[in-house]
Amino acid sequence: MLVPILLSALAMTLIVGVRYLLTSGGFALATRARHPGLYAGLNPQIRREIAWSLASAAIYGIPAGVVAWLWQNLGWTRIYTDVSDWPLWMLPVSVLSFLVAHDAWFYWTHRWMHRPKPFRVVHAVHHASRPPTAWAAMSFHPWEALSGAVVIPTLVFLIPIHVGALGFVLLTMTVMGVTNHMGWEVFPRFIVEGPLGRWLITASHHQRHHERYGCNYGLYFRFWDRLCGTDEGIGDFARAHRRAAGRSGAGAGLAAGGGADGGR
Ligand SMILES: [Zn+2]
Ligand SMILES: [Zn+2]
Repeated sequence: MLVPILLSALAMTLIVGVRYLLTSGGFALATRARHPGLYAGLNPQIRREIAWSLASAAIYGIPAGVVAWLWQNLGWTRIYTDVSDWPLWMLPVSVLSFLVAHDAWFYWTHRWMHRPKPFRVVHAVHHASRPPTAWAAMSFHPWEALSGAVVIPTLVFLIPIHVGALGFVLLTMTVMGVTNHMGWEVFPRFIVEGPLGRWLITASHHQRHHERYGCNYGLYFRFWDRLCGTDEGIGDFARAHRRAAGRSGAGAGLAAGGGADGGR
């Protein structure tokens, strides 16, 4: 029994690692096309981001692999495969419940990690990316990775979720993790600056966290930040892009791209 569980953990580690490389790599390529030079001079940092992220892939993969094995072989967890097992409303309700629960856990653990001692020990690795890139999505110290890795494997025991809806939650988690760090906004301005953007976290919001530290702690929603007075609005990529242009020395292509993003 132990060997199959270990193999499942190993397989899941590989899946999480490859998923990270493909998603971050894809968005890094998109960054190169959209904002050439944005990551100029950041290669040593990117190498560290990839190393920490691959270590995190194992930390995420092991509990996920164990839970996947328990689900497949013993029927544990509340994951279901037949969509008619629950009414259809369960699909959106379960997705939203997972995102809301993960967001609350993230907000409070993240806020705690910004206290001086936990910051030095647990969270400084993530903020060593200045500015973060698409490769920083899983760039966490192992303790911080562990605090994130337990969330979904715990929730699948508590909230019934269809396997496809769970896939959607994981996709959202992966894509938001990458896009929130890649240094430019993917969402159109009417979303980011509109009524939806007042409650949803996108790159412009998390960017400000990496700039100012003591604010904007949330993951998906601005609910906790707004409730607790830690929301300081959304950042402006124009300034960050000018800094990148200065770093690369040339930045002719970047000036055009940065200008397009001005005011976001
Ligand atoms: Zn971050
Ligand atoms: Zn932080």
